[in-house]
Parts: sequence; C-alpha cells; structure tokens
Amino acid sequence: MESAVGLLVREVEADTDALGTFAGEVDRTGGPLETAILKARLGLTATGEKLGLASEGSIGGDSMLPVMVDEEIVVFVNVEDDYEVWESFRSHEIIARSACVTEIDDLDAFLVSADFPNHGLIVRPADGSHSLVHKGIHDFDTLKCLVSDVSRASSDSRVIIETDLRAHHCPSRRENIEAAASKLANRLRALCPTCSTPGWGVVRVNRGLPCRWCATETRLVREQVFGCAACTEEQAQWAAITDSADPQWCERCNP
Ligand SMILES: [Zn+2]
Ligand SMILES: [Zn+2]
Repeated sequence: MESAVGLLVREVEADTDALGTFAGEVDRTGGPLETAILKARLGLTATGEKLGLASEGSIGGDSMLPVMVDEEIVVFVNVEDDYEVWESFRSHEIIARSACVTEIDDLDAFLVSADFPNHGLIVRPADGSHSLVHKGIHDFDTLKCLVSDVSRASSDSRVIIETDLRAHHCPSRRENIEAAASKLANRLRALCPTCSTPGWGVVRVNRGLPCRWCATETRLVREQVFGCAACTEEQAQWAAITDSADPQWCERCNP
C-alpha cells in the first residue's frame, strides 16, 4: 500500500471478534463485504482517522469442486469523502483441515496435511461446548496436552482438531489476503476520469455476447463496465475476445 499508493498502514486494536469468528463462538451475521467495511469503520472510530483498511475471509467447501476455497476481500474506506473501494481474491490454495480424534489416535498424518506447526491449530470438544476452545496452538507438546484435557472434559471423549483460520495463525490465508490487497492497491491507483476519485475499475459485466449463427444473446460476457466509487460515471468496454459466441453456448442453436 505504501509503495503503490503512498498509504502508510498502521495496525489498530479493535475487537473484530464481535463481527464473527471462524471457531464459531460468534456467528458472522453480515455478508463478507459488509463485515469488512464494518471492521474498517471500527478502526476509524478507534483512531479518528479518515482512511481505513480491513480484510475479511470466507473459507468453506467449493460449490463445484471437492476442495476448500478461500475468498478474501480487502476494503478501503474513506469516511471523509464517503466512498469505499474493494477487491477480492479467490483461491484453492488454503490449508483448512479438520479431524475428529480421541486421545489415543495417531495424529501424524493429520499434522502433516495440516502443515503443523507452521499453521496453527484449534482444539475443542466434539460435543459442541464452546467453553473449552483452545486456539493458536503451534507446538506438539501443548497440542497433546490439550487433546487429552479436552478429551477428558468432553461428554463423548472426542475432540475436534482443526486449522486455526485466523490470518495471524494461517500463512496460506495470508498469501491470499496479500493477493487481494495487491489488487486493491492497483485499483486505488486508477482514478475516475470525471472526478479523480481513486478506485476506478470494473463494477460489473454485461452478458449477452450474440450467437454467431442466429445473433441470439448468450450468457457469455460481452462487456466489462468500469465505474467510480464516488460518482455515477461509468464506461463500458468490450471484453470478449471475439465479436460473437460459438453456437454451442446458444440456447436456440444448442438447447
Ligand atoms: Zn444461435
Ligand atoms: Zn467519479
């Protein structure tokens, strides 16, 4: 942010857990973008600054593939001029493992797949009681101790061990946040041609690339629409690599 747009980023103490936690003690009630904006505003309230930056991650199963996916949003908020700019980055490069174990289970294979101790772990009882959640575990002896403690306290002796997805314990997530932040820095470098507000970039796409045979509009992207975060200026730009769609995408020629 500093080299790209001259923003000096300073960390602020703010209780972002109130907006939701990965371990599930607090459910996130807002969407990821809304939550990221709220986080940035928490920091601005705490400091009285005018420009804020925050990120929010969503990690879960991919709807199309049997793998985990991490979607990171980084948002820039300017409360003085009243606008927000954001970018997101979606990646399957995320270590997010979970296993249900008992005290006597061999953890070696799981720990290798979870990239432990590089990635932190959480230990909690499988019976769902949140009072015994231990986070940020990075050494094997502590892990063993906690697994037996929690196992003894859990009603069915079973323990869930899972990746601590908080960014400061999850290096694979940090790389995705960095990629999102890098996209955001690039976007902030682009100024609106009308009002010069930073953050000029794609705000949506227009679908409807016409079929080559019958000219019916297909679902393929035709244009990207560039827009401003502050004013109503928009410019559409042809985004398809050809001027018509292959008939295989046409509802009429290939229903
Ligand atoms: Zn057609
Ligand atoms: Zn503008």
